[in-house]
Amino acid sequence: MTFKAEYIWIDGTEPTAKLRSKTKIMDGTPSQDVADLPIWGFDGSSTNQAEGHASDRVLKPVFTCPDPIRGGDDILVLCEVFNIDMTPHESNTRATLRPVAEQFEGQAPIFGIEQEYTFFDGHRPLGFPEGGFPAAQGGYYCGVGADEIFGREIVEKHLDNCLAAGLGISGINAEVMPGQWEFQVGPLSPLEVSDQLWVARWLLYRTAEDFNVSATLDPKPVKGDWNGAGAHTNFSTRAMREGYEAIITACESLGEGSKPLDHVKNYGAGIDDRLTGLHETAPWNEYSYGVSNRGASVRIPWQVEQDQKGYIEDRRPNANVDPYVVTRLIVDTCCTALEK
Ligand code: ADP
Ligand code: MN
Ligand code: MN
Ligand code: MN
Ligand code: MN
Repeated sequence: MTFKAEYIWIDGTEPTAKLRSKTKIMDGTPSQDVADLPIWGFDGSSTNQAEGHASDRVLKPVFTCPDPIRGGDDILVLCEVFNIDMTPHESNTRATLRPVAEQFEGQAPIFGIEQEYTFFDGHRPLGFPEGGFPAAQGGYYCGVGADEIFGREIVEKHLDNCLAAGLGISGINAEVMPGQWEFQVGPLSPLEVSDQLWVARWLLYRTAEDFNVSATLDPKPVKGDWNGAGAHTNFSTRAMREGYEAIITACESLGEGSKPLDHVKNYGAGIDDRLTGLHETAPWNEYSYGVSNRGASVRIPWQVEQDQKGYIEDRRPNANVDPYVVTRLIVDTCCTALEK
């Protein structure tokens, strides 16, 4: 018996990394344990991860799940990229998250990430008429009907694929701009939510490919009076899930000293195009937090104030953010403050 393993990794494209994958035919039946899966290599000179004269890079499996595209015994295998001396490659942001996640594991940090994205039909967002614009925003968010909804069959297929893969998807919705959608992953630990979000992104591209549609995480796919695409990052620790004081400590810590800028400049390329202060965003260079406020950098959901416990929503990350980076920064900043 043989099976197919799709090895997936994150490349070195600047300023926003892309997903790559290739197929390995393996003997036997697949193990659920990544530790049993072999390392593999690839040509790093074709992915912005090496020079041609020393091009080999190493793929080390870190997460595996059933492959819902191929089905049967076939699997998806998410990898970290290493140099041939087995030091993490500089593009390997997961390796930087690992020690931080471990350091603060005792606080039980968890994340739910809302991934927004936009479908494109060639050079136009799906649903935009040729050479023009659709009706202004207003009716599309969570809409229903062929005049408001574009690409639902792809979205449903992607959702089913994620569930069949066993990913922790918590919901989907149509977004404010036509052709724009969202899925949420989590709540899960920093490494789990990030690994699963990267695999869910791969499944999004791969699912849409079969419909001849592309999906993009471009944070501002259409200039002008059209919403951008974000990746609101919901976060809590055990203390935050138990009391309001920790909620406020976390919100305050994100506003201290150089923290707002340290975070925002790592929240995805092109963040100043999206965080303008319009379209349900706060200006990128002004930190604020507030209850129920979708114009703040960080929102405390009204239910959380009501219950005096729960989680906070960092609304700043762009759709193209690297989840390994955003979860590391938030855990580092908030858990350091909460430890005091
Ligand atoms: P919004 O109202 O901002 O659109 P969503 O329902 O799209 O919110 O997303 C909220 C996300 O927050 C979900 O992924 C959910 O799993 C996550 N979440 C819920 N509770 C917590 C928690 N205690 N800690 C972290 N994330 C949480
Ligand atoms: Mn070749
Ligand atoms: Mn949402
Ligand atoms: Mn949204
Ligand atoms: Mn949100």
